[in-house]
Amino acid sequence: MDKYEVLKKYFGYDTFREGQEELIDALLGGRDVFGIMPTGAGKSLCYQVPALLMDGITLVVSPLISLMKDQVGTLNQAGIHAAYLNSSLSMGQYRKALGLAKEGRYKIIYVAPERLLTEDFLDFALGADISMLTVDEAHCVSQWGQDFRPSYLKIVDFIRQLTVRPVLAAFTATATRAVREDVVAALDLTEPVLVTTGFDRKNLFYKVSTPKDKFAAVMEYVTEHPTESGIIYCLARKTVEEVCEKLKLHGVSATRYHAGLSDAERRKNQDDFLYDAAPVMVATNAFGMGIDKSNVRFVIHYNMPKNIESYYQEAGRAGRDGEESNCILLYAPQDVRTNQFLIDQESEHDAFTEEERRVIKERDRDRLKQMTFYCTTNSCLRDFVLRYFGEYTAGYCGKCSNCLTEFVDINITEAAQTVIECVKSSGQRFGMTVIADTVRGSGSAKLKQNGMADNSCFGRLSDMPMYRIRQVMQFLSGSGYVLVTDDQYPVVKLTEKSAEVFGEGPVLMKAAKEQKHRATKPGQDTAKVQEDLQDTDYGLFEELRKVRLEIARKERIPPYIVFSDKSLRHMSSKKPQTKEEFLEINGVGENKCMKYGGIFLDAIAKWKKGL
Ligand code: ADP
Ligand code: ZN
Repeated sequence: MDKYEVLKKYFGYDTFREGQEELIDALLGGRDVFGIMPTGAGKSLCYQVPALLMDGITLVVSPLISLMKDQVGTLNQAGIHAAYLNSSLSMGQYRKALGLAKEGRYKIIYVAPERLLTEDFLDFALGADISMLTVDEAHCVSQWGQDFRPSYLKIVDFIRQLTVRPVLAAFTATATRAVREDVVAALDLTEPVLVTTGFDRKNLFYKVSTPKDKFAAVMEYVTEHPTESGIIYCLARKTVEEVCEKLKLHGVSATRYHAGLSDAERRKNQDDFLYDAAPVMVATNAFGMGIDKSNVRFVIHYNMPKNIESYYQEAGRAGRDGEESNCILLYAPQDVRTNQFLIDQESEHDAFTEEERRVIKERDRDRLKQMTFYCTTNSCLRDFVLRYFGEYTAGYCGKCSNCLTEFVDINITEAAQTVIECVKSSGQRFGMTVIADTVRGSGSAKLKQNGMADNSCFGRLSDMPMYRIRQVMQFLSGSGYVLVTDDQYPVVKLTEKSAEVFGEGPVLMKAAKEQKHRATKPGQDTAKVQEDLQDTDYGLFEELRKVRLEIARKERIPPYIVFSDKSLRHMSSKKPQTKEEFLEINGVGENKCMKYGGIFLDAIAKWKKGL
């Protein structure tokens, strides 16, 4: 078999992505490699493909248990023998796995760095034929990086103990130069073949906004995207609690994650998220490293994070499958102060001297400044981030909120009149929400209770989306056409200016004109697949998602490990009828075709008949 055959047979893909082939060829030629590629670029394949073509075993050092579990799950699904050795296994399970490893049952073994120098593991390793050692999240070896893990320093000691030095492959998504140089030195890579693909994540849409009411902004988003899975990052645990609670009150299937929860609850909540039982995760930055969920469609930052590195990494958890996804940052000036406070409090740097600590704090404050610039700039957001990492772009991406913000005057006369009439006729007793619900004609029980369902304005703006109605109301209050009181329960009141909306001229509101960005394409896959995806039959897609969820529940694996969203969309557009056609679907390899082909082909056939 050659690398192309492996790619198709096990992973179901026809072509390599940027950088993959070069790294694979180097490894097969016996060279060390260092791959620096953004999240979602496909780093795993760079060592998994050569692992299958090499004689011996590939060890993968990985920092996080959840990530290993996911990777091994994915490999097993593809029909590849793999296992992980970490603290999530009981002693008995660990011994058993190690025993099987000794018998040569596994081609790829994931191992936690702490295990490398243990007696049991060394005993196995010294007797085994190890062809390659892969270091995932290699930046963890750098003491200057953000995620330094002392246990990563054991990797080099471990390699020195082996009788034959395996070829080394290191990977990271961290873009800063200092960290890169540190990794090469700390892992003692021998003249590595260095591959850096661009850091641009073309399928991500970046947006910064400064809403008055952050929670309302989140609600608006999740209401408009009800089937999507996403992460909402908050700075403080308390905010996580509040936002999650409120979302649940509004009927959103949300869960939470932060360092203050018990291990058991964290594990459960994480699983609920991975398995789509609770598709919305509200979390602090403790959540996410190693979370491999590929169908995260949005990442909302409820607060500005402390630096661009963190932002890029956290926002980058969206869209690992290459599908269009949104990264939204809700900025408030208060976030700057909170972060400054956190930097001053920072006590993690105990390992450093006084002088080093001072330097680190200074650097952190500088990074925070850059992050604040990102939130307040009027130029291209993508360009800002890429420049920060030393890449130069044209300065206009056409796919971020700044590039797309074009201000237009819209005529809101009718809406303004309706709102003011509604406020007046209801005796100036209600807040924004009741008024907005009334003119929109929402059927909430509250409106029946307070009599607003009988108001003459009820439902008069039913054609206008809720966000627009809110925008109009904000505009009216901002321009003095109405007044919103400062009380605990703010109420909308009329002003002297209110009557002006009934005057001769139209009422014009400046609004950001946002073009639909969903039509643009990520350009990562072959043109053919992209073209196919254009005709996705979304009814069928929903049907196939149900089939996938059922399989996932039965096999106790996350749905995206059965098939990615993209594979399902490809199926929904191509509607394959035979196993041969099924194998043509993006992400369908032989093993998955054998296992699931029947079920999905049946579902597709049934759907076609039903039409
Ligand atoms: P990374 O580790 O770089 O964040 P992954 O290895 O998890 O990224 O890959 C991200 C996604 O891209 C996975 O769903 C993977 O199956 C898919 N992928 C990787 N290589 C290819 C390829 N050559 N063609 C199509 N999809 C690919
Ligand atoms: Zn832009």
